[in-house]
Amino acid sequence: MNVTKELNRLAGKPLADCTNQELYLALLELVKQQSADRVQPVTGRKLYYISAEFLIGKLLSNNLINLGLYEEVRDVLAQAGKSLAEIEEVEPEPSLGNGGLGRLAACFLDSLATLNLPGDGIGLRYHLGLFHQNLKDGSQSEQPDPWLTAHSWAERTDVTYPVTLAGKTVQARLYRLAVTGYEGRTNTLNLFDLDTVNEGIVKDGICFDKTDIDENLTLFLYPDDSDEAGRRLRIYQQYLMVSAGAQLILSECAARGCNYHDLADYAAIQINDTHPSMVLPELIRLLEEQGIEFDEAVDIVTHTCAYTNHTILAEALETWPHAYLDDVVPQLMPIIEQLDAAARTRTENPALAILDGENRVHMAHMDIHFTHSTNGVAALHTEILKNAELHGFYELYPEKFNNKTNGITFRRWLLACDPALTDLIESLIGPGFRKNADELEKLLAFRDDEAVLERLGMVKAANKQALADWLLHTQGVRVNPRAMFAIQSKRLHEYKRQQLNLLYLIHQYFEIKAGHLPPVLLVCIFGAKAAPAYTTAKDIIHALLTLSKVIAADPQVCPWLQIVFVENYNVTAAEKMIPACDLSEQISLASKEASGTGNMKFMLNGAVTLGTMDGANVEIAERVGSDNIYIFGQSSDQVIHRYAAGDYQAHQWYQADPNLRRALDFLTSEPMRAAGDAERLNRLHHELTTKDWFQTLPDFNAYVVRKGQALADYAADETAWQRKCLTNIAKAGFFSSDRTIAEYDREIWHLG
Ligand SMILES: *Cc1c(COP(=O)(O)O)cnc(C)c1O
Repeated sequence: MNVTKELNRLAGKPLADCTNQELYLALLELVKQQSADRVQPVTGRKLYYISAEFLIGKLLSNNLINLGLYEEVRDVLAQAGKSLAEIEEVEPEPSLGNGGLGRLAACFLDSLATLNLPGDGIGLRYHLGLFHQNLKDGSQSEQPDPWLTAHSWAERTDVTYPVTLAGKTVQARLYRLAVTGYEGRTNTLNLFDLDTVNEGIVKDGICFDKTDIDENLTLFLYPDDSDEAGRRLRIYQQYLMVSAGAQLILSECAARGCNYHDLADYAAIQINDTHPSMVLPELIRLLEEQGIEFDEAVDIVTHTCAYTNHTILAEALETWPHAYLDDVVPQLMPIIEQLDAAARTRTENPALAILDGENRVHMAHMDIHFTHSTNGVAALHTEILKNAELHGFYELYPEKFNNKTNGITFRRWLLACDPALTDLIESLIGPGFRKNADELEKLLAFRDDEAVLERLGMVKAANKQALADWLLHTQGVRVNPRAMFAIQSKRLHEYKRQQLNLLYLIHQYFEIKAGHLPPVLLVCIFGAKAAPAYTTAKDIIHALLTLSKVIAADPQVCPWLQIVFVENYNVTAAEKMIPACDLSEQISLASKEASGTGNMKFMLNGAVTLGTMDGANVEIAERVGSDNIYIFGQSSDQVIHRYAAGDYQAHQWYQADPNLRRALDFLTSEPMRAAGDAERLNRLHHELTTKDWFQTLPDFNAYVVRKGQALADYAADETAWQRKCLTNIAKAGFFSSDRTIAEYDREIWHLG
């Protein structure tokens, strides 16, 4: 293909005369054509990855890279006086996800296509995403996050499937989005929607009539579930996704010759967390409609489906009241009851039942009983599932439990987001790492090469300058690119402990005022959305924004410390922030972060981790060694024992440690109240000093000390610091999602 000619034809006029919008549409068409050419027929077993979220990010650059067109297109446009980077700005980011779980699903689709494995996604086409975060007047507010334009990557098809919701049948329409692999095949992300959904019913931010299912069903991801209508709406959404998805799977398999008895030879279905769990009873229902007996249907479904557990936070493991399911999906309830009865013949332990004494349906329990595989997402997480959280299930089905440590696609998180680093790496070790991430280890040969370490430092410095420019341009915030950049960007949640970082920053504020100056200016950058109904999370955002103001207004402190809160953290923001990071903050309470994947992205881009022994941090620490990571805090065993003993008293820690008390009390001090909202600050103070459910206070001192060490090392010896960065990059290969997907395929899916 001649790119210039083809683009001219698609644009309908000389490229130099086109607007960026017109060029974007021409490129969209070009990519669609080229990816269609790489669709391959499916033989053998095909994967269906069902997930409520696919946090895919912008697609233009990524697709051009995967199709091998990026450089040529960039150059052709440059010759016409156009900038590909500016054209990319035109593209809206699809808001189909929330955090790590959705980003994982997107990385997996990329790796499946790259490894030439047949594997499609199934999800929903949310019109307005999760929400767009605004940070005005010191707090978060939510707006719709529309991304669907007349021309979009997701193409409408004529395919619809009937889905019966609360006795009323609606038509689920299929939209298809091409997923290109890096020098690989093209797979599909299948997204379902209703034609009747109406964005016009949304008022006052993200409020809408939660009962009007025809009009609201696919407006938002995770609609507020703090009331009953919201919880029911989530069940409606989940059922739309799994029922339409199950019908799609069965029809695709039938078209390839499947007689349904042999479904497991044609399809592998991965259930990403519990949101898609109703696919199990739904498939059984559909197989029964085809004349298959219940027992055999259960057997087929068990052999076809596998389940991934993403969390040990009890409140995040979904249980639905029997009564809601009776209303929304009455056709499934008899099947769920039969499954519960079948499960009870396998174990007498009522804690392992699907229906509990309060008439709630435990989705994860149904998954473990009636799929053939349950996996955790990092080694520590899987051990905790086996030994604690799901121990009873592990005793019943030891053969079902396995670990698949998460990964990230290096196409987006290195090649696309950090081209300068990619070029440097390629100049040192050749291009093999692009397809085989383990080759990054060859970088270790340059550990003591000062010229290479200096070049690595220059790449980072340029990326920091680029982030500084972007922050000024998009948020109106000025930062000094010669500062150390420490970044904590992830969903706002108490277990992730942005509040620990907050207490550290207050502590530093006092230290600086007392004349104990740090060795380097520190810029702490946050990016995080809080769930709209999560009060403590929003209070933490408010406290950080308020502290940021207090520090910026203090001439004694602001030359040494700055807090930046990036509005509306999403994949696009992450791609700017991660390549510019010096210190990666991964400070969750040990045992609570199942894996984390942000930690992997930062490492790959040459940041050093400051973290607890939690999730995949443990595996990062094993690989890079203690010289190249800053570990602190309680171990997961200590935390689990503290919970089991039930004797943690935040107030005792508050009383006993004057530094901690000073930091906590500053929350409600005069300067903070003057800059912020006293009610919220009081509420957060109360929360942290009396409850602190995620044990922030016991880790405070260790965190202060370890972070101080990282700052001192960074300031003392630039070469030694760059050596740590190089080691992190060199050891990141294991965290490629290509490795993760190869393991899923070998041990669970057996595709193709
Ligand atoms: C990777 C990613 C996450 C997950 O970050 P964690 O630190 O693993 O929680 C969340 N949001 C976005 C936009 C991401 O790219």
